[in-house]
Amino acid sequence: MGNPNDTHAKSVPGAAGFLLQDVPHFTDYLDHLPSYPNPLQNNPAYSVVEQYFVDEDYTVTEKIVVHKESARGVHFRRAGPRQKVYFKPDDVNACIVTCGGLCPGLNTVIREIVCGLYNMYGVRKVLGIDGGYRGFYVKNTITLTPKFVDDIHKRGGTILGTSRGGHDSVKIVDRIQDRGINQVYIIGGDGTHKGAAVIFEEIRRRGLKVAVAGIPKTIDNDIPVIDKSFGFDTAVEEAQRAIKAAHVESESIGNGIGLVKLMGRYCGFIAMYATLASRDVDCCLIPESPFYLEGKGGLYEYIGKRLKQNGHMVIVIAEGAGQELLSESLQSVDQKDASGNKLLQDVGLWISHKIKEHFAEKKMPINLKYIDPTYMIRAIPSIASDNVYCTLLAHGAVHGAMAGYTGFTVGPVNGRHAYIPFNRIIEKQNKVVITDRMWARLLSSTNQPSFLKPRDIAEAKKEKYPANGILDGKILKTMN
Ligand code: ATP
Ligand code: MG
Repeated sequence: MGNPNDTHAKSVPGAAGFLLQDVPHFTDYLDHLPSYPNPLQNNPAYSVVEQYFVDEDYTVTEKIVVHKESARGVHFRRAGPRQKVYFKPDDVNACIVTCGGLCPGLNTVIREIVCGLYNMYGVRKVLGIDGGYRGFYVKNTITLTPKFVDDIHKRGGTILGTSRGGHDSVKIVDRIQDRGINQVYIIGGDGTHKGAAVIFEEIRRRGLKVAVAGIPKTIDNDIPVIDKSFGFDTAVEEAQRAIKAAHVESESIGNGIGLVKLMGRYCGFIAMYATLASRDVDCCLIPESPFYLEGKGGLYEYIGKRLKQNGHMVIVIAEGAGQELLSESLQSVDQKDASGNKLLQDVGLWISHKIKEHFAEKKMPINLKYIDPTYMIRAIPSIASDNVYCTLLAHGAVHGAMAGYTGFTVGPVNGRHAYIPFNRIIEKQNKVVITDRMWARLLSSTNQPSFLKPRDIAEAKKEKYPANGILDGKILKTMN
């Protein structure tokens, strides 16, 4: 198996301080490849749009707010249709696979890849791989046409099915080769992109003209570089229903506490945005911000204070929050899923129990209702804004693959869609930065204490501004 971080992404210096983190192109490893005029020039939209095709020299900047003295920094290739393509539409044999957990919008992305290939480029062969990566070599394929996918965006889940584990790059590429597939669209999260990077390496090693395009999926919004992941807005919207229910329950009874657990294994974006949107939440707990239960300034003290002031309260907790407290108090069981991800213990149940126990000891009666809407949120269809976003992602992937790019993922960077090398997507996870203003906004909206001890604050600041001048993996100063 190859190294998924070694995706042969090129770093191309430009004008002073400018660095293009480029994605691979067929011409990097295949000789004498013919190119063709983009069939989109026959599209009625072509004559209307001033600059229909994206100039190869256009890039998207990773950092939008820069100091006037600082360098221009890292850029990515702008996504969109190119004047020349490296596939004749009749020769394209595309496939789509969905991997990892469910996320609203998966079906919209599938639909728009199929319709984009058919309607924009006149491609007629698109297959669906049934059941994630292992579907390449253990299951039959599904023929996808615009008619077949017409209504699927109105449904939750993925019509192709998904799975964890089962990534065997040699077997997968064997089947890609046997079937004559030359464009592979892979929709999934960090694990899926690690798998896609290995598949790309194997394809490149065999010298095949097969484009590998990733579409980043994560309901938690933990994929770095891109502005936001699809399904996130839908998840935040649906989480409001759980928070509203928790609020109604807590208000209806003396010393009522509504506790809602939301998704977020390693980051608290859903919990943070759902809390900010709702205004009914008194306390939001996320993995990035440590908290403690006992003593002065701890969670129990805050709950007691809130109940005395208001008679009820709502707590939102992300699933990955407080895991270190759980492993201290429960016997740690190191279980993993089929993809090798650590299985977390249920922090919602645990903290419900701890709060009840504490106030029973204090002889203060409370009424706690625990709501876990995780699977209800994951399974719904995407809302309108996510549907539009999914369309842009799918079309960006199709334009990139048709233009001969490969080993790339697509997504908005500061509002403009770009082609991003796999290694940037898989090298780290996106997290809530608790020293940023967004978390400060949350604290002032809920009025909760930060729960941070001086040592935690020093740690968080060090993480943001480490001595070596790298911020979040980005070089802060020069890039000449
Ligand atoms: P999410 O975490 O949002 O559910 P994910 O893509 O991270 O999505 P995983 O279950 O971790 O979900 O991975 C999806 C697929 O990617 C699985 O089939 C898994 O075998 C494969 N995969 C994960 N990590 C790797 C890796 N390091 N190398 C190759 N394949 C991998
Ligand atoms: Mg993952």
